[in-house]
Amino acid sequence: MITIKNYIAPNTIEEAYDLLIEKKNNQILGGCAFIKIGSKTIGLGIDLINLNLNYIKDEEKEIRIGATTTLREIETSLVLKNYCNGILCESVSSIVGVQFRNMAQVGAGVFSKYGFSDLLPCLLVLDAKVNLHSEGIIDLKDFLKREYKKDILKEIIIPKKDGKAVFENIRKTSGDFSILNGAMYIGKDGTAKIAIGARPTKAEIAEKASKALEEKQKLDEIRKLACEELNFGTNVKGTKEYRKGLCAVLITKMKERIGD
Ligand SMILES: Cc1cc2nc3c(=O)[nH]c(=O)nc-3n(C[C@H](O)[C@H](O)[C@H](O)COP(=O)(O)OP(=O)(O)OC[C@H]3O[C@@H](n4cnc5c(N)ncnc54)[C@H](O)[C@@H]3O)c2cc1C
Repeated sequence: MITIKNYIAPNTIEEAYDLLIEKKNNQILGGCAFIKIGSKTIGLGIDLINLNLNYIKDEEKEIRIGATTTLREIETSLVLKNYCNGILCESVSSIVGVQFRNMAQVGAGVFSKYGFSDLLPCLLVLDAKVNLHSEGIIDLKDFLKREYKKDILKEIIIPKKDGKAVFENIRKTSGDFSILNGAMYIGKDGTAKIAIGARPTKAEIAEKASKALEEKQKLDEIRKLACEELNFGTNVKGTKEYRKGLCAVLITKMKERIGD
């Protein structure tokens, strides 16, 4: 059972951050979908509702998504539907159900670096950055490698890219966690990226496979490189060997959809 002893909705991010670091068991509250399935006592639940972090801003060179934007708002955003084949909208559209997506917030999911995250591989291939209150703007790729440190994710920044991108995942049933997921991007400038997540560890870019994709090497070679360079593990959803096999299938599916 989760117990929240006190609740506050600060009016400034500085106040929210000061309260967050004041005591070990003070915690930011997102949509609480994940928090509520846990079992702990939160001294002070800090709600970001008054900080105007609910937005999807279409700027000249980037798209900025505020931390308290819900997954449903991402799924239905016209700006995001028209960006890189709507990859971000697609990636969240299978997460549990609409009521859930109306609640769960993007900042919470990205900051928590969940291994099963469907959004992370997509954000990785799009070269997204995170804007943290204390640490500032960091490449998502680097943020994912960092040790956990209390902070507040303010927004996600995605450069405007001219290219195609696709998301694929394999689940036992709709609404379940992905057994494996991935994203592929091919830019008009010739750049290419592949990221694979839910291995079951968090999403990572397959650097060698991405380079092979850029160089237009054979699909067999791209698949082989990704399966060799990434680590796969076992959990209740599938074994390491099964995931490795699925990785090759996922890359084939993504390449077929994205084309040349
Ligand atoms: C049953 C279930 C199934 C799910 N299935 C999937 C799935 O298939 N695919 C997928 O991608 N995701 C899945 N998720 C994760 C979901 O998409 C959300 O990422 C998750 O629920 C967190 O969002 P929230 O708003 O509920 O966060 P909360 O539960 O409120 O918070 C989660 C954590 O994030 C911290 N936090 C919240 N906001 C911020 C912030 N701005 N800055 C710093 N820290 C913050 C909180 O302190 C807490 O530690 C699932 C979650 C659940 C509960």
